[in-house]
Amino acid sequence: MEALKQIPPVNDVLQAPELADFRPFLNQPFATAIVRDVFDATRRELSHSGNGIARAELTTKIAAAVARRLAQAMTPSLRRVINASGVILHTNLGRAPLPEGAIDHLRTLASGYCNLEFDIDQGSRGKRDVHAEALLKQLLHCDSAIVVNNNAAAVLLVLNTLADGGEVIASRGEQIEIGESFRIPEILARSGALLREVGSTNRTRIRDYENAIGDTTRLLLRVHPSNFRMIGFTERPSLQEFVALGRRTRVPTFEDLGSGCVAGLGAAGLADEPLVGDSIRAGIDLVSFSGDKLFGGPQAGIIAGKKPLIDRIRRNPLFRALRVDKLTIAVLEFVLFAYLRGDLDAIPALAMIRASEAELRTRATQFAEQAGAVATAIALQSTPGGGSAPEADIASWGVRLSIPGRSVDQLERELRFSNPPVIARIEKNALILDLRTVFRSEEEDLLRIVRGLASGGL
Ligand SMILES: *Cc1c(COP(=O)(O)O)cnc(C)c1O
Repeated sequence: MEALKQIPPVNDVLQAPELADFRPFLNQPFATAIVRDVFDATRRELSHSGNGIARAELTTKIAAAVARRLAQAMTPSLRRVINASGVILHTNLGRAPLPEGAIDHLRTLASGYCNLEFDIDQGSRGKRDVHAEALLKQLLHCDSAIVVNNNAAAVLLVLNTLADGGEVIASRGEQIEIGESFRIPEILARSGALLREVGSTNRTRIRDYENAIGDTTRLLLRVHPSNFRMIGFTERPSLQEFVALGRRTRVPTFEDLGSGCVAGLGAAGLADEPLVGDSIRAGIDLVSFSGDKLFGGPQAGIIAGKKPLIDRIRRNPLFRALRVDKLTIAVLEFVLFAYLRGDLDAIPALAMIRASEAELRTRATQFAEQAGAVATAIALQSTPGGGSAPEADIASWGVRLSIPGRSVDQLERELRFSNPPVIARIEKNALILDLRTVFRSEEEDLLRIVRGLASGGL
């Protein structure tokens, strides 16, 4: 075939200016595979179409295609996005953003060696769980605490340690699913414990738990319903009744608190969230919660409570499998210090929850003015997300975007394909950018993107 004769030698393509940026690693296997792929595709194309194309032109064309493919292959899959959805602890967007200061601390620690499992005073082997424990004890006023990979791991570990081969008593109304395949009955089954459900879907009394206690009972479980609420004819024992029953019958009590609210956020519209401190003060034996929901820290599962029980958990070989790395501990310690100083605004998720409506109104108004006719400042409701109360709305402000000739779905898509991607919200067939979840430092980028959309192209 005549057309195929125009295909340049591989070396000519590799020397093309289009590939200058990639030259240092063009001989790596992943790059040669891409080059081979593009040559194969070109050969197929030419043998079909067969039209004559000059060799020089073909060289440039192939080099450009290789450059495109290489650039794609070298773009990390995990990217920064602008969260304009108004959902503060958005599970799909990485939940809690981490404090700037924590990242500096992380850089120092992680780029060198650290005393992760080394006792500097004694000059001997130490334990990785001592680092966060001291701070957790001070913050939560508990006897002991440990940290694992996430709250699902924490629940699994507690159930397996305390109830493997025995029974766990839990209310039918608390057999919840959080999403991302976390379901209480399933995790319970995996722990080796047998679930003994009591009460009815909407009403469970303390007598129901009490009547179910027998020789094989190992644990009384209570679960925060998180992102779901029952209203109307409902009943649930108080924390005090639950703790008293455990004490009277000598069965340990455990509460999966989910979101892990440590600081009262009632003023910000989250009065409904149970506080970790309330459960511990009530005398519950163990609690667990997520590090990256309302706590505002890194992904982690925190288990706090009575020392003899935590010591048993520490000895469980599963603890070794579920432990956290130095990066998590470093960030967690930073967040714990912020709590101890009472500096809640140093924790970005909390700063966002606490940002005042007046402040957001000013930001939205200014943003709309700068963006031009396509944007209108409007009052909104943000949601905390991350397994907190579904009806907890926080009064917020943002902008509504509307561009003549472009549908709301089109705009949503164009924003998502911009750089960095912007995750917007569609509400009542309007495209909304909620500024509560947009960092001030991101506003400039957002403004550039919105102006670009308005002027027709990015
Ligand atoms: C979110 C949640 C979990 C799972 O926590 P992860 O940290 O996401 O593993 C478990 N239990 C409850 C009640 C929750 O709300």
